[in-house]
Parts: sequence; C-alpha cells; structure tokens
Amino acid sequence: MKRPQSPNTRLLRAGRPHKGWVNTPVTRASSYIFENVEHWRDTRNRRDAERMLSYAARGTDSTYALKDALVELEGGYRAKVFPTGQAAIATILLGYLGQGDHVLITDAVYAPVRRFCSRQLSRMGVEHDYYRADGCDLAGRIKPNTRLIYVESPGSLAYEMVDLPAIVRLARAHGCLVAVDNTWGSGLLYRPLALGADISVMAATKYLGGHSDVMLGTVVTNQAAWQPMEEAAVDLGQTVGADDAWLTLRGMRSLAVRLAAHGQNALTVARWLQSRPEVACVHCPALPDSPSHALWLRDCSGTNGLLTVEFAPMFDAAAAIRFINALQLFGVGASWGGYESLALPVDMPGARTETDWSGRGGMARLHIGLESPEDLIADIEAALQALRG
Ligand SMILES: *Cc1c(COP(=O)(O)O)cnc(C)c1O
Repeated sequence: MKRPQSPNTRLLRAGRPHKGWVNTPVTRASSYIFENVEHWRDTRNRRDAERMLSYAARGTDSTYALKDALVELEGGYRAKVFPTGQAAIATILLGYLGQGDHVLITDAVYAPVRRFCSRQLSRMGVEHDYYRADGCDLAGRIKPNTRLIYVESPGSLAYEMVDLPAIVRLARAHGCLVAVDNTWGSGLLYRPLALGADISVMAATKYLGGHSDVMLGTVVTNQAAWQPMEEAAVDLGQTVGADDAWLTLRGMRSLAVRLAAHGQNALTVARWLQSRPEVACVHCPALPDSPSHALWLRDCSGTNGLLTVEFAPMFDAAAAIRFINALQLFGVGASWGGYESLALPVDMPGARTETDWSGRGGMARLHIGLESPEDLIADIEAALQALRG
C-alpha cells in the first residue's frame, strides 16, 4: 500500500537515481553519440514526445533530474528550465501570445516584465493592459482577444494577493490561460497549479537555489498548456548547463527548512518593526493587518523572508535611503532568496500605474536572511537613528 507523503518528503525523493549515489551526477555535455544512423533517426523522431538523450539542449541527466523535482514541487505535467527567471517569463509571453492577442498583467508584476511588454510585446503587435494588484478590476478588463492573464501572487514589493481560483474561473469562462509568477511561494508556500492555474513560473535564482550562487528560471504547466511551452523553449534555444541544474537541485533539498527559518525570522523582525513609531506599516501577507491576510491564510502554507517597510509620512524617500545605507548586516542588493539579508529602496509611486501610492512615507524592501533575528533587529534599531537624521 502506498503511504501518503508530505510535499517536503516527496521533494526530497524526486529527481534522484533509483540506486547507487544519493544524487544524480553532473553531466556536462553537448553532443550525444548514437549507435548508428538508424538509432539517431529514431531518437529524433521520438524525442518531442518522449524523454530521450539526443542533444544536451534537449536535456541531460542533470536537467532531467531537476525537471523531475520541479514537477513534484509544483504538482504539474512537465517542466522547462531557463538560464534566468526573466528568460522563463519571456518564453511564456512569446510562446502563448501572437499578433492581435491581448494579455492582462498584474500591476504588482516584477518590474523587468513591464519593460518586456512595452519594448518587445508591443513591437510584435501583442496588446497588454495592467489590472490592479488585488485583481478587483480584472473582469472588466477582459477583451474578446484576451489570451492570457498573468498573475504574481503575492506580488512584487507590497505582496498583494489575488483570489486565484476566482481568476481561474473567469479565465475559463473567456477561454484564456492563467500564468502565475510563483517566485514568492517557491512551490512550497503557494501552489498555483493546484489552485487551477495553467502555468507556473519561478525564478529559481531566489529560494530554490537559495545561496546566491546560481541563476535559473523554471516553468511547469498542466498537460493542456504544455505543447506551446515545449515548442517555444526549443525554438528559442532555452536550456541550462549541468552545473547550474545541479546547484539548483542541491538548493531545493533544503528548501523547506530554509523557507521556514526565513519566515520565522521575518515575522520576528516584522513584529518588532510594527512596534516602532517611525514605521507606518509593514507589508507582508502573513501579518494579520495585511489586506491580503485572509487569502494568505486560505492559500499559503507559510511566509518567506520578504518584508517591505513603509515609514511614517514624515520620513521621505531620502530618509529611507539614509536608513538603508546605515544598515551593516543587510547588503544593498536586489536578488533575494539567498541566506543573506538584503535591503533596497522601494519607489511604489514609480512602480505602479493602476493605484496611487503617492503622499506616503519612504519605503524599504528587506529580505530577512538566516542570520540571528536579534542581530538583525539591533542593526535595524541603529539604522533608525540615521532615518531620523
Ligand atoms: C527575481 C525575480 C524574477 C526574475 O528572476 P531572474 O532569475 O533574476 O531573472 C522574476 N519574478 C520575480 C517575482 C522575481 O523576484
């Protein structure tokens, strides 16, 4: 009888050899040598439908092991891997959209995707519009040519969540697909495919890698949405090297314990920040006063290291920058998800087009790492002096 297993146990078992070494060895490769011309021809005829070793761009033992673990993590049909999260997102937009199509993008989208839409999609005759980060205006924005709804939940910078199952129902009624950037949830905290989405994309650069030493993007889809992804990834020549696949898979083995520790540390720091008079609000869906808290309770199984601090209105953007520069344990850096703490200024009025964020205090995004939270709090307390000027 098959015993039930938790997502973490399944993740630890996926993508491993059936016997022998614990881990799949690193296969650095390009050309595969066939037994004869017939074997070469037969492989080429079958490789679109079947997993076969044929050319390293199509897959090696290393990338297949990673894809197996990703399919297990996200609960989908098949996976593709990319050199960056941005490349994975670009391949989704190119693969599912064509001239005359329309895509709806969340206002909470990772900023470089906005640039991709205005610079690349527009040039190709694909229309795009933005909907509000909480999704409340989405239904009214669907057009007859809307092919894709692009979600990021919790979203970038302020972590607003959407009611994903409700968006999926809306999309089904209009015959469009739903793609979700799942970098925040990283497959363990949030599971978009289980909530009905067709496509889930992650920057494995962040928590899956987890050590700031690798860049990689992932896409997992359901069976119905698979074919255009398979074709777009192959046509655009998207693949990853064996060392990067191996590093990502190695990071994934400790994903659950790292996320739990990041989340615990972040909540400890968040509660302390909330007690401070300089702080107007801490943005994080796991905090009970967050507008997304009910959705977070319903759809997420935990939180991660991300917090965005909004200072009281008397502290402007320049004050927030003084605060960040005074931090000693936080690096000034963008790519969160590693073990280290990071801080960056947040310009919400500049980042959003569908809601007005002007007239509020300066903001800073913190990635709470695996350092002791007491040390991080002491560092933040000292930096609040610089905030006050
Ligand atoms: C970082 C990030 C990406 C892009 O990942 P890269 O690997 O840096 O290209 C995409 N989406 C979100 C939400 C991110 O935070």
